[in-house]
Amino acid sequence: MTSIVKPTIVHRGLSRNKLGLTIRDYEGGMSTLCAGCGHDSVTAAIVQALFELGVPPHRVAKMSGIGCSSKTPAYFLGASHSFNAVHGRMPSIATGAAAANRELYLLGVSGDGDSLSIGLGQFAHAVRRNIDMIYIIENNGVYGLTKGQFSASADIGTAAKRGEVNQQPPIDPVQLAMALGGTFVARSFSGDKDQLVPLIKAGIRHEGFAVIDVLSPCVTFNDHESSTKSYAYTREHSHQVVHTDFIPSAAEIKVAYDEGEVVPIRMHDGSRLLLRKVSEDYNAHNRGAAIEYIRTYQRKGEVVTGLLYIDESEPDMHGINTTTGMPLNQLEFGSLCPGEKDLAALQDRYR
Ligand code: SF4
Repeated sequence: MTSIVKPTIVHRGLSRNKLGLTIRDYEGGMSTLCAGCGHDSVTAAIVQALFELGVPPHRVAKMSGIGCSSKTPAYFLGASHSFNAVHGRMPSIATGAAAANRELYLLGVSGDGDSLSIGLGQFAHAVRRNIDMIYIIENNGVYGLTKGQFSASADIGTAAKRGEVNQQPPIDPVQLAMALGGTFVARSFSGDKDQLVPLIKAGIRHEGFAVIDVLSPCVTFNDHESSTKSYAYTREHSHQVVHTDFIPSAAEIKVAYDEGEVVPIRMHDGSRLLLRKVSEDYNAHNRGAAIEYIRTYQRKGEVVTGLLYIDESEPDMHGINTTTGMPLNQLEFGSLCPGEKDLAALQDRYR
């Protein structure tokens, strides 16, 4: 991924995180997306979340596929590992990276075209394997990079910029991920940084596959009156059901809540999530009821946002396969190779 390099001038007054880094250390190249594209706001939220968490940039591996969204890893974390895979194939590459080095923070950025059409099978298997990564879908309902054709997330009745009307039912990545056994499923809006930043932090700390579907309007091809993925429509129809506060491990809880208003969740690394119900009848721990709730609002044309489902009890891919705690890429050859005798015994089992 090539991009225009930003000057690295750091203002003296910029605050520093626990690693002594400023927010500038989490930025990347200059964005070449259209001015006003929602994806740039998602980039800003990712930068903010990683800076506040104090994640070492060299321990992050950015993964993407093809599309406007998949260009965005060039615009943040210029000092991290990065792999721009072919269309829809990012989950396979991420699975390999997760298998080889469990100490990396894997951060995938994809789009509705990349994840819900050509990459749908890849996405589905990444969810069911519970790969330890955060997977952000920048969802705008169109293929922006190829001039605005409908994607699989476009709603029935949505009109394209040139007038044609979509007749096909949409694929909702949130309901799909929940049906496939997803352990952390959230939805947000690129224009709501207050909601998005804590969700990204929580997704990074979740031990397993954390998918965040971010409605991220395409200002060039899908931000008009008859679009259900425009800034105006999303602002008017989004319905937050759960407000999330992320408290890093060892930090003091400074948010004041009345008893019974908040559900605390302890994450694997000791961080805490405080889920405050905005909607009384929503339960982020009941998969079936949550899907039904999302569908009910979908039928009314409303978009339900927040951390919609979480389960911290399920093991991730390494837990399921009981792999060693040491990253596989650091194991000595002698530990990786069982030896001639054991290999022969293993092969005998398949004869
Ligand atoms: Fe963003 Fe749309 Fe422009 Fe692509 S075409 S950069 S999605 S506004």
